[in-house]
Amino acid sequence: MSDWYRDFANSGFGTTITKQLGLPRPAVLRRYEPGQPLLPGPAVIGSAGEGRLRKALTELLQAEGVHVQSPVTADGATDGEKPAAVILDATGLRTPADLASAHDFLAPAIKRLRATGRVLILADPPSQADSPAQAAARQALDGLVRSVAKELRAGSTANLIHVPEGAEGSLASPVRFFLSGRSAYVDGQVMSVTAAELPAEEDADKPLAGKVAVVTGAARGIGAAIATVMARDGAHVVAVDIPAAGDKLAEVANEIGGTALQLDITAEDAPQRLIEHLRERHGGVDVVVHNAGITRDKLLVNMDAARWNSVMAVNLQAQLDITQALLDADGVLRPGARVVCVSSQSGIAGNRGQTNYAASKAGVIGMVRAWAPQFAERGATINAVAPGFIVTDMTAKMPFGTREVGSRLNSLQQGGLPVDVAETIAWLSQPGSGGVNGQTVRVCGQSLLGA
Ligand code: NAD
Repeated sequence: MSDWYRDFANSGFGTTITKQLGLPRPAVLRRYEPGQPLLPGPAVIGSAGEGRLRKALTELLQAEGVHVQSPVTADGATDGEKPAAVILDATGLRTPADLASAHDFLAPAIKRLRATGRVLILADPPSQADSPAQAAARQALDGLVRSVAKELRAGSTANLIHVPEGAEGSLASPVRFFLSGRSAYVDGQVMSVTAAELPAEEDADKPLAGKVAVVTGAARGIGAAIATVMARDGAHVVAVDIPAAGDKLAEVANEIGGTALQLDITAEDAPQRLIEHLRERHGGVDVVVHNAGITRDKLLVNMDAARWNSVMAVNLQAQLDITQALLDADGVLRPGARVVCVSSQSGIAGNRGQTNYAASKAGVIGMVRAWAPQFAERGATINAVAPGFIVTDMTAKMPFGTREVGSRLNSLQQGGLPVDVAETIAWLSQPGSGGVNGQTVRVCGQSLLGA
């Protein structure tokens, strides 16, 4: 599905017209391709105060083959090429006055950032500050990064990771994700890592090699994209969907060399049937992606019980029941398992006509947060992704005006693609992402709806 307006705005004539009329100019985003270098150019790393992460970050990037530049000096001197990433280690912040050094580093560095660049800030969590002044300084970064994300153009993004003391070892996977093309549509977000025991480095091109991954709702749309990306990353995918979608499901499974399992996830025996299938065919499971979801929109005052109940059953109760059954079934959920649940921007911001859907998707966010400590005890994780406006067959059917407005109301001025959601889920599923737990990662291009 091409974005005709983006293609027009990036053509010679279109660039002139959109500039003259002050119209949005959505960029062609940098998306991940296997074998691609982490960044298409050098990175520059600076710190506010005595950052404790700078050295490790420099080593991480150098190991990835990225040239790390020195920050721009006070007299404006630079060492060469424009950076593809600007990284601020803000772990040294003590007071709001220290933020001046963040500004002094970021302003000239971001001025030189190339198209589809990345701004990444690493900081301690405000909740663990020693004083109100330190908490204020740390929290200030939220406002800073969200505003930078809104100011950046040309497909560049800005995000913030909270790294508590002791969690430094969990940083590599999130840093790689946010710098790479996998995070093309994740913008203006703040997330946290925790300390976790991680396996030895995985194969960068096949991080899910040897893993068995279940993807529900895999016959089409975002689910089919998740299944494809997981298989590309090395997983054997068990693609699940309702019997009525059987033909399409088989097509997806055949294309990616996976297995199709026809199953209505709301059926009473669905958890047991899934577990039996996994036990018999694969001996267990490493990754479960709860993607299947439905909408039955009506204003609350007009919504009948059937609409309410069916949405709750598919979008929330089935995720709870299947996850609980997997936790209870001896040995099926393998050590280091990853569960990723699909929520929605509607679950964060609410949406007119979607009280049932938004309630179910908000419930998913509460569910992963509550389950995270129990998963951590098993060396496992559970997270959610909340997609914003994603270009699918469903959105293609929206009236032209509604679709155009809906897809442009974000910092990247375009809708995301199913692959953007899939890349985020595949990243959360990696063994190296064990320090990301209980989080909800929005894949929304910093949608203007909700935080
Ligand atoms: P879609 O309707 O294209 O695909 C959903 C799939 O789930 C279908 O193949 C369907 O058959 C399957 N499914 C539905 N009920 C099922 C059941 N009981 N058992 C097994 N499978 C079932 O939807 P999509 O746009 O690809 O959305 C995928 C997920 O992403 C959903 O959870 C949705 O809520 C969420 N989401 C989508 C968007 C978007 O813009 N498309 C935005 C936010 C969140």
